[in-house]
Amino acid sequence: MVPILLARIFRTEPSIAANALVAKLRAEGRDIVNFTVGEPDLDTPAHILDAASKAMASGDTHYTSTLGTPALREAIVTKLSRDNGLDYSVDEVVAGTGGKQIIFEALAATLNPGDEVIVHTPYWVSYPDITKLSGGTPVVIQGREENGFKLTAAELDQAITPKTKWLILNSPNNPSGAVYTLDELKAIAQVLRDHPHVLMMSDEIYEHFVYGGRSHISFVTAAPDLKDRILIINGASKGYAMTGWRLGFGAGPKWLIAAIGKLLSQSTTCPSSISQAAAVAAFAGDQTPVKAMASLYEARRDLMTGLLSEVPGLSFTSPDGAFYVFVNVEGLLGKKIPSGSLLSTEADVVRFWLEDAGVATVLGEAYGISPYVRLSFASGEQVIQEGCARLRKACECLS
Ligand code: PLP
Repeated sequence: MVPILLARIFRTEPSIAANALVAKLRAEGRDIVNFTVGEPDLDTPAHILDAASKAMASGDTHYTSTLGTPALREAIVTKLSRDNGLDYSVDEVVAGTGGKQIIFEALAATLNPGDEVIVHTPYWVSYPDITKLSGGTPVVIQGREENGFKLTAAELDQAITPKTKWLILNSPNNPSGAVYTLDELKAIAQVLRDHPHVLMMSDEIYEHFVYGGRSHISFVTAAPDLKDRILIINGASKGYAMTGWRLGFGAGPKWLIAAIGKLLSQSTTCPSSISQAAAVAAFAGDQTPVKAMASLYEARRDLMTGLLSEVPGLSFTSPDGAFYVFVNVEGLLGKKIPSGSLLSTEADVVRFWLEDAGVATVLGEAYGISPYVRLSFASGEQVIQEGCARLRKACECLS
């Protein structure tokens, strides 16, 4: 019999599964351009590596306090003040083994069976599945491309019920690249003021990658009076090219941080002590590498969007943040591939691109919306050029 927790969720996280398929095909000798990756291809900056080496050499190799070392929690407080102008105390922040773990524990700590969690498409793949794992019910608001895939105040107001426990908002957004403006966040906050039972999870993990002179605005900046109902999710993975170190954090009200801490004490005990020491250098140290990475991603975005605009049948909104282009493939549906089969769904498109062009991508359906495909530009220029050239060639052969 399938255990009850597993019965609530039916799949491996889809972008991880897509990446694993690429590894398998490459091991079989296939030449695949991998546009599925949800992580920087860059190395962790040198000063962060130094901090980790020092931690290892000086015996900083033991369990730490569950919520994170005092030094790390201070560094998180410093980061929130420096980057976001927010005032948090150390007992309002918690470190975890990735931002994903904080999301997981926060929902596990607060959801009762039947509680609703509002998410908006395209959503990050894990929100609905983590919600289900905790016995909650995802309430999905369908996003609209013509609206830049942004949740509006009116849509939120309609979706809230007495059972709503959380709204999850992600800006900059994975996969759409949408970045909310101050006014858009304020309009959403106004709705939340009318519904005091709703908590808000603001996933800001891509905050450093915002393009075209825009800036990231934390939800707490937009609604300081709601600070006690907001959990900020952030971490070292994306901004500091540290996905493998598994270090994320949450910032929120003390009662919630303490509840998350209880769950952490029963699960992972604490994040790796070495990763915590590295993250102190990341959050409180030199920020120059982050700015350099942001400029690099912006150049890659421009390269990829320029090349994709020449591929027949595709359309997209240029992303303002994160490192993905969320492509509408409707223009390809109904076309015939050289072997004679018809492209009827986005899954057919993804399979065609993988099998005929050797380019791996992720289905929009994984993000709750069709017919779209996510392409990551967190790869070098040559990879982007090669992958887009292959897509163009493949799409030009359709009849
Ligand atoms: N939130 C979003 C929107 C993400 O894309 C990811 C990772 O892909 C995470 C959270 C979790 O990141 P991590 O667990 O590496 O901190």
